[in-house]
Order: sequence, then structure tokens, then C-alpha cells
Amino acid sequence: MNTFQAPRGTYDLIPPRSAVFLAVREAISAPLKNSGYGYVETPGFENVELFARGVGESTDIVSKEMYAFETKGGDQLALRPEGTASVLRAALEANLHKAGNLPVKLWYSGSYYRYEKPQAGRYRHFSQVGAEAIGAEDPALDAELIILADQAYRSLGLRDFRILLNSLGDKECRPVYREALQAFLRDLDLDEDTRRRVEINPLRVLDDKRSEVQKQLTGAPMLRDYLCDACKAYHEEVRALITAAGVAFEDDEKLVRGLDYYTRTTFEFVHGGLGSQSAVGGGGRYDGLSEMIGGPALPSVGWALGVDRTVLALEAEGVVLDIPAATSVYAVPLGEEARRVLFGVVTELRRAGVAADFSYGGKGLKGAMKNANRSGAPYALVAGERDLAEGVVQLKDMESGEQRSVPLETVVSELRAKLA
Ligand code: ATP
Ligand code: MG
Repeated sequence: MNTFQAPRGTYDLIPPRSAVFLAVREAISAPLKNSGYGYVETPGFENVELFARGVGESTDIVSKEMYAFETKGGDQLALRPEGTASVLRAALEANLHKAGNLPVKLWYSGSYYRYEKPQAGRYRHFSQVGAEAIGAEDPALDAELIILADQAYRSLGLRDFRILLNSLGDKECRPVYREALQAFLRDLDLDEDTRRRVEINPLRVLDDKRSEVQKQLTGAPMLRDYLCDACKAYHEEVRALITAAGVAFEDDEKLVRGLDYYTRTTFEFVHGGLGSQSAVGGGGRYDGLSEMIGGPALPSVGWALGVDRTVLALEAEGVVLDIPAATSVYAVPLGEEARRVLFGVVTELRRAGVAADFSYGGKGLKGAMKNANRSGAPYALVAGERDLAEGVVQLKDMESGEQRSVPLETVVSELRAKLA
């Protein structure tokens, strides 16, 4: 085993690419913060029961992909495979839904874990930014979330993505459809595993990617034809609101998504540059989830966008984010005395809010200037014995190469003004 190798299916975020991840998380959360969503953070693990009930025993996520374990104290826990169940659990525990201000709107950002077959865009540790609006049934809320995700992607400069939209019906009409679909599927030539799925979660069969399955699905009953009037009206309103906002979407009647808890509105964001891992994000309404985990009826809607795949999508489109250099001033001391003085200047700059760094390790001028260059800082401060004797430092404009003496007493305020 190579001891420097990250575990299979994982990778490290390291500079400079890690800055892109931060920028993507920031860009996705910005429209949420601006729309009444408050930040929530839950533990990286939960009682395994929460996901078994909340995500569903029949889903791949719970049955195959979950990192479940027993602690030394005998607790049955699981690393969180997704965010919605945890966020709802946290809202219920804190009684946020009783504060009289529904919907409770929350956003989150974090790491998620699924034991999947690693491939491009599919990892065992990945990160999501998500949003949940808990406790209200209102098509405008579904529309809001779809519009905000679209805004987030666009603000990053992504263009080659599509929004797929469907309705999964509710507890009135979905069971009727489910039975009709089951009757159809039972007559097909399917393998053992898929037959089992027909009995537990028949809608998932529609989502089967294999062509031998897809071929047999022609003529399958479609949910659209079974939607009750309330679901139809709700869906039409969601569609109308998104359309009015100028957000393009495609109706995809086969979109069912991998989680058991979805009702009515479901949607997925797919990107053309990602090969088979094309989903950059997804979500929908989950009116029954609260009750499934033992809470009161709380119709809710949410989404989760994958940060890793969003970064891959940006790379596929050749979008380069405008990430300003982390350092504005790089200080290069020549000699012991200069080291003490410039270190003090750097400290002062930082306290004044100027991003500053310092040449450590007693490098010579050439090596230190190389580092100054690499830092991307627009300014360098250089000082030697003679400068100090005169009470000045050399301020170098790294782009033009121009250099001049600046009095030590005013260098911080001058740099602060230049960089404002
Ligand atoms: P897929 O169909 O690709 O497995 P999913 O339906 O399981 O996706 P969700 O549970 O809806 O995905 O999660 C939302 C987003 O999180 C996905 O659109 C994707 O961007 C990201 N995501 C999910 N699983 C992974 C993974 N294993 N590696 C990287 N990103 C992931
Ligand atoms: Mg999946």
C-alpha cells in the first residue's frame, strides 16, 4: 500500500483547484442566502435508522451504498449519504416547525459518503450544497428552488446544462399508478434483481439505464396519465412560474430519482459534458418524509447540487472562474534586521485587512522573488540594511516591474489605499 494514497474513490482538494471548489460552494449558496435560507449544519453521521426510514430500504443508497457501522458503544450509525433526512431530523429536533414561521428554509454544505463504484464524477466521498424548504405546500416554493439553482449555475458561467422536470403524484394517485405499472412490469422478461425491484419500488425500473430493459418499457403506463386533478394543477402552476421566470426546462416523464421520499415535483439538472455521470444536481418535493421518520405532516421541497460534478462541468465547458490572487502583498526581507521589520509590516497589513505573505526560511533575493511571483501578489515589499537605515522599504509593482522607495511609516496606509 502506498501510504500517501487517498482511499479508493476519494481525492484531496488542493490548491489551486481547491479554490474553485470554494468558489462553487459560495456561488451555489449565495442565491439561497439572498432568499431567506438560513445555514444549517448537522453531524457527518446519524443513526442508521434515520436513513433506512428516511431514504428508504429499497433504494441503492441504503441497500448498497451506505457506510454503516457499529460503534464501540454499540450504536448503529451511518456516515450520511445525503442531506435531506438529516436536515429534516434537525429541524424537528429543534422544533423549528413550531416557531410559527413556515416554511422553514435552510441551506447546507458538506461531505457525503456513498460506497459506489468509483469512476469519473462518481466518488465515495463527495460534496453537496443543498437547500430545504420545510412545512409548506406551495408551487411557488418548488419554482423558487428551481429558479435559484438555475441562477447559481448561471452565475458560475455554466451554460450547457438542462433542467428535467416531472411530477411523481401524491398519496392519492401514485398508488393507483404504482399498481398499473407493476401489472405491466410483471409480464416483462427481467432478471431476478429487477423483478424484486418491481415489487418494492417499481418506479425505479423506469430509471433503469440498460437498453435491454429500456426496450421493453415501450408502452408502459405513464404517471402523467394517472395524476389526480390536484397534482396536475399543482404541476401546471410550477411549470408556469418557472416559465414566467425565463428558466427553460424539459418535461421528462421518466424522471423518478433514486430516493423513495419524493412526491409531486421532481427535477434534475444534467450537464452535457460529463459522460454518464451527467446529473449535477437534483431534488424535489417530499411531502411524506417527515411522517416517515416519525414527525408530523410537513410538506417540503429541496434540492442538492453536487459540487464535484459542478467543478467537472465548469472544466468541461472551459469556464475559468475569476478567482483573485489570495495574496496582495509579498514581503521579501534581506537580512536579519529586515526580517524583523518586514514581519512587523506584514502583521500590520494583515490587521488592516490586506492579504499579505512573507518570504520564510532565509531565502536569497532571487529565490524569494520567485516565490513572490508565484504567489500572484500584485505588490512586493523588499527591504535590506540600507533601506532600513534610510527608514524606507522598496515597493515593487509586480506587473510593471516598477520599484520605488516608500517611507516605512506610511507603507501600510499607502498599500491599503492602493488595494481598496
Ligand atoms: P446519480 O444518479 O448520478 O447516482 P443521484 O441521483 O444518486 O445521482 P442525488 O442523491 O440526487 O444523486 O445527489 C445530488 C447530486 O449529488 C448529484 O446530482 C451529483 O451531482 C452528486 N452526487 C451524488 N452521488 C455522487 C457521487 N457518488 N460522487 C459525486 N457526486 C455525487
Ligand atoms: Mg446515485
